[in-house]
Amino acid sequence: MTLLRPVRGTLAVAVVLQALAAALTVIPLIMVSEIGMVLLDRSSDTTVWPSVAVGVAATIAALLLSAAANLMSHLADNRLQHHLRGGMAERLSRVPLGRLLADGPTRFGKVLHDDVHSLHHLVAHALLDIVSLVVTPLTALVYLLLIDWRLALISMIPLLLGVVLFARAMSGSADQFADYARAQQEINAGVSEFVDGIAVVKTFGAHRRAHRRFLAAADAFHDFFSTWAGRTTTITAASQSVVSAPAVLILVMCAGAVMIIAGWMPAAAIVPFALLAPPLAAPMATIGTRLQNLRGGMSAARAVTELLNEPVLPAPSGPGRIEGTEVRVKEVSFAYRADADDVLRGVSLDLRPGTVTALVGPSGAGKSTLAMLVARFHDVTAGSITLGGTDVRDLDTTTLYRNIGFVFQDVALLRTSVLENIRLGRPEATEAEVRAAAEAARIHERILAAPRGYDSVIGTELRLSGGEAQRLSIARALLADTPLLILDEATALADPHAEAQIQDALSALTAHRTLLVIAHRLSTITRADQILVLDEGRVVERGRHDDLLAARGRYARMWQAQQRPASVPDPIRVAAPGSAQADEELST
Ligand code: ADP
Repeated sequence: MTLLRPVRGTLAVAVVLQALAAALTVIPLIMVSEIGMVLLDRSSDTTVWPSVAVGVAATIAALLLSAAANLMSHLADNRLQHHLRGGMAERLSRVPLGRLLADGPTRFGKVLHDDVHSLHHLVAHALLDIVSLVVTPLTALVYLLLIDWRLALISMIPLLLGVVLFARAMSGSADQFADYARAQQEINAGVSEFVDGIAVVKTFGAHRRAHRRFLAAADAFHDFFSTWAGRTTTITAASQSVVSAPAVLILVMCAGAVMIIAGWMPAAAIVPFALLAPPLAAPMATIGTRLQNLRGGMSAARAVTELLNEPVLPAPSGPGRIEGTEVRVKEVSFAYRADADDVLRGVSLDLRPGTVTALVGPSGAGKSTLAMLVARFHDVTAGSITLGGTDVRDLDTTTLYRNIGFVFQDVALLRTSVLENIRLGRPEATEAEVRAAAEAARIHERILAAPRGYDSVIGTELRLSGGEAQRLSIARALLADTPLLILDEATALADPHAEAQIQDALSALTAHRTLLVIAHRLSTITRADQILVLDEGRVVERGRHDDLLAARGRYARMWQAQQRPASVPDPIRVAAPGSAQADEELST
């Protein structure tokens, strides 16, 4: 109801129009009954033409009113979708970037696309359907009560029976529906595991195993569904049969015949019952699907509401002033959730302008987390991070991202032109500037090879390999020209040729900038101004390469370990499927 607030007025008008239309659809049947009763009554000399006229007029009016109601509900839905999408986009723009990265495509994508679509069904269709389902039988019932209240009550019996049987069929269905959704999710997981990982699965000869998960899920679904259907089919079929038109007609005709023979009712009075008793019970036949739609719409509404209430990063009151671009990380601790352990503990670090700082350490040590905190992808749990003397929490995002840029391993490219993709960080850049950045990032030639050059749409007209996508993101960062750059040393998986090109592109990017590099191979950071060794969220060593080697500690051991394979050709450095090289091979 809160979600619907912006369109409540329009929807109310739609509901009233639809209620009138639904009542009017009964009028032609009433008129036919009246005509029938007149014609059967030999003594009557009433003319039937007025009834014909009323019936025709009511039919036309019902059509017009129903069309108007549909128009209103679609207008309301359109406005609501616009409002909700705007609201969600606004909210998402304030949700911590780290959360978007973690949950983005799956959860938020589902809400923005599927759930908004389910709401369309609820607002534009289901609401009006339900109005018709209630108003039409009610109108018919009122008329039948006026004709003969006893037979009208008998006509209600199938509906009541249907309700009782349907309620029994549905008892415990909430659990069953949850199981149903779970079983279907398991099938989906099996399918996506099989499809997404098809290269890995085939390479390692595991296709039988991957198949097996999918087949097991399909079997489980089949078993679950058969049991559920087996248990409820009889009662569901019974509830559908008692409300079906033949069943209702048999009951009403028999009861009517008895009443006519007993002299309780004129024979002609059977006509309205023959015509109008079946519609009384008809809604029960479709109630199952309607309820399911309603349930889907409700759960979509809940998901949308949750997204609209998603916790956001507190926004600063003004743009915030910075002096210089030095970053100071002071005693920072961080946990991803309030109830989770800290993944960073008391980390301090200064990024002086023009220096290179490298973060090294085992996987899971907290390197990416620390880099993300500097770019305010999350807020620190304790301690502070300042840029140019001001806490990053007091800087608006424009100021922050004009100063801090990043190149990550997972390159996000938008489904738009190459030009737009590169100038994402500086939309006002000229084409010449974009071209210069692409040349420096060693991607210009590749772009020109595409049919429409810089206007080619990424993903449809131009498919880039992993390495090429990285170079494009480097061009983007070059153009954005931020004094500070966070770099996830992205070249680890590239093949030698791509790696040389990426290194060239990187050297263009990193000259004269303050760098924070998440390093995977120590050979690339021997000239860094400072190296921080992280382990379990703490800085366990820091210094320059030579000093750390001399200290013979953790870093020296990591260095030793990485030197060994370099002396012999490394057979393992063949790219794994899914890596940049494999992507390149797939695309050729
Ligand atoms: P590194 O970059 O050194 O490999 P990360 O910073 O990615 O390490 O991870 C540090 C720790 O934080 C790990 O234990 C990881 O499981 C956890 N972690 C990383 N991202 C998330 C997230 N989005 N939600 C919860 N925990 C996370």
